Amino acid sequence: MSEDGIGRRVSSSPRTTYKMMGGDPGAPPDGTAFQIKVLASGSAGNAILARAGDTCLLVDAGLSADALARALAPLSLTLSDLTAILLTHEHDDHARGAAGISRQAGIPIFSTETVARACREMFADARVETFRPEVPFRIGPFTIEAFPLPHDAIDPVGFHLSLDGARAVVALDFGDLEEPLLERAKGAQLLILEANYDLHLLREGPYPWFVKNRILSRRGHLSNDAAAKAAVASATGNLQTVLLVHLSEVNNLAPLARDTVKWALEREGLGHVRVEVVRPNGQSPLLVI
Ligand SMILES: [Zn+2]
Repeated sequence: MSEDGIGRRVSSSPRTTYKMMGGDPGAPPDGTAFQIKVLASGSAGNAILARAGDTCLLVDAGLSADALARALAPLSLTLSDLTAILLTHEHDDHARGAAGISRQAGIPIFSTETVARACREMFADARVETFRPEVPFRIGPFTIEAFPLPHDAIDPVGFHLSLDGARAVVALDFGDLEEPLLERAKGAQLLILEANYDLHLLREGPYPWFVKNRILSRRGHLSNDAAAKAAVASATGNLQTVLLVHLSEVNNLAPLARDTVKWALEREGLGHVRVEVVRPNGQSPLLVI
């Protein structure tokens, strides 16, 4: 995967902002390069675009088709440019738009077999393809491997996406750090990771204790401290950027999440790893791996 991209152009609107990972920050990316952008983040809806050439994968579809179309427009993309939806799990904020987008765009939803069976009604007459966790499959130029994550959903997974040595790991809703994630994150250049809550803000915050306990459990959500541990554990390899997502609007603050992870990396001599935060309901820049 190219890290320079100098002098090559991609067909995107001039309003698009690029960040090259390890390359020239001002250069537009190669159209065939692995590009990734968080289009929506937080409990109101999650969606991530992974693109290379004509292949546009949507990781999660927590937005309506209309909201997604608005998010794609600045990239000069429409719903019909999408290739497939990859589903991490069936919770509303990750899947509520999947069936509608699938039907409108004429593209398949990829989920585990267990989720496909359990969500027959939710997926209605959308086309559903299945994958098995830890068995790689291909869509266009991407090799995709789902891996299990601990979360209170039917069969939750994260994704390892790779293209010619460029690798990204997406781990959205989960409550604890386990080997399948850490193993895959070690080789990735980009880690898109949940940093849901600050422990102190959650404990002192307004949620009832049964909700707090659910969030705190190993099948709940990830704290800033645990995200920091994951970043440090992953940074022994190629890691260049950690993108923190799915921040709680109530139990977290973007600067707190960023600094917790950044300081943990710096303490281990890993200050070269860039840490960025996507605010609740916000988007990331278009990243090029
Ligand atoms: Zn969830």
